[in-house]
Amino acid sequence: MSTTRFVLIGSGLAGGLLAAYLGRRGYEVDLYERRADPREGNLVGRRSINLALSTRGIHALEQIGIADEVLKHAIPMRGRMIHEKSGGLHFVPYDVDPNKYINSIGRAALNTTVIEAAQRYPNVRVHFNHKCTDVDLDSATANLLNSSTSQQLNASGDAIIGVDGAFSAVRQSMQLKIDNFQYDESYLAHGYKELTIPPAADGGWQMKKEALHIWPRKSFMMIALPNPDGSFTCTLFWEFEGPRSFATTKTDDEVCNFFQQEFPDAVPLMPALLEDFRQNPTGSLVTIRCAPWFHKDKVALVGDAAHAVVPFYGQGMNAAFEDCVVLDECLAKFPDNRERAFAKYFSRRKENADALADLAVENFIEMRDKTASRAFRAKKKLDHLLEALLPGVYLPLYAMVTFTRMPYAEAARRARLQDRIVTGSLAIIVLAIAVLLVRLMIR
Ligand SMILES: Cc1cc2nc3c(=O)[nH]c(=O)nc-3n(C[C@H](O)[C@H](O)[C@H](O)COP(=O)(O)OP(=O)(O)OC[C@H]3O[C@@H](n4cnc5c(N)ncnc54)[C@H](O)[C@@H]3O)c2cc1C
Repeated sequence: MSTTRFVLIGSGLAGGLLAAYLGRRGYEVDLYERRADPREGNLVGRRSINLALSTRGIHALEQIGIADEVLKHAIPMRGRMIHEKSGGLHFVPYDVDPNKYINSIGRAALNTTVIEAAQRYPNVRVHFNHKCTDVDLDSATANLLNSSTSQQLNASGDAIIGVDGAFSAVRQSMQLKIDNFQYDESYLAHGYKELTIPPAADGGWQMKKEALHIWPRKSFMMIALPNPDGSFTCTLFWEFEGPRSFATTKTDDEVCNFFQQEFPDAVPLMPALLEDFRQNPTGSLVTIRCAPWFHKDKVALVGDAAHAVVPFYGQGMNAAFEDCVVLDECLAKFPDNRERAFAKYFSRRKENADALADLAVENFIEMRDKTASRAFRAKKKLDHLLEALLPGVYLPLYAMVTFTRMPYAEAARRARLQDRIVTGSLAIIVLAIAVLLVRLMIR
């Protein structure tokens, strides 16, 4: 029997990692990426500069033996540092256990590491500057355009995997050619823009290094993640339209006024604010749901191509990496029946991707609005107290999503149940105290 040949489209974060997993299983893999080789100094694209890597993503990297290499360059973020307008600062740890933290990592370095991990297998070949324009689903053939030579070519395999991100060309072919293919995209009214806080004169960090900084301002927010070179990458999440929005804030004076009013402690740390604001693109935030994620034994979707989510739980890449682990397990379980493997992969992941999509949108409200309140900080303290008092029984939602590999849908269900029990118990305690007080007063 000849070796199975996979054609992968997209060597972003999940594409590189998936190629490594498939390469390890001995498959022949050809990976086509529309951009140039990131090692030649090209930017990875209009996604974030850095990302939060947590337990699920680390597990996927561990399985292929590159977690240590990646984490060498990571900066632990042990909690949220909340910046009030008044200049007040509050640090809220992510977990009761200080050893549980998320990791800030550079996208470009991580992308290079996963591609190099794939290229260690002689049966994996990576072809940069090849854009997929269309896929013939039944023959598993990708039509490609070589941007260096302007030549059109095609690549056939036993199966094609679309790992080509939120605006996947492979998924588009499935939309066009599969009857009843379900597709839903929903854009937030907010966009995002990346800005920079450079290192201090001595090369150190100008704010607390091991934290994810948040400036919550109710309907919008700014966040900042640390980089190894002493800088922070800030991201402003703000309405596209409206009286105060990207649309109405154009001139240097308008931008300065807005930042002075909303983020006064950050402004002195951002000497290139106006230049960054003018030059850096404003990105959009989309949730994509589709079904099915496969076509016969010929095509499958992985990562953002199957389930793009908004970035507020810091889980899009982590979930995409988890897809790679699950798809690899399914291919191992059904080595002679790829359609069953794809179907099993889809059934294990779909419900969880949908749950994550909801959690991510809900967390935007928590980050931009609730983190500013005393009630939020009190709730986090209560969460940590219950977690410490009831180890293994009570786990806050954030901890389940970020520090475990519990399926997302199960974490969401368990959190709803816990909330009902805690709210019910608090109501009983309040009632008991009230009864006690009334009795004391009657006496
Ligand atoms: C602002 C922001 C912040 C984020 N922060 C986090 C975070 O903190 N933690 C986290 O886990 N996730 C985060 N994410 C989500 C994360 O970026 C994605 O989930 C992750 O990049 C998905 O990986 P992927 O490989 O599926 O897609 P991508 O990384 O988008 O890679 C797709 C690749 O396919 C290539 N491609 C596209 N079309 C074609 C084509 N037609 N032909 C050939 N190649 C093609 C692209 O060039 C790209 O290299 C964030 C996202 C954004 C926008």
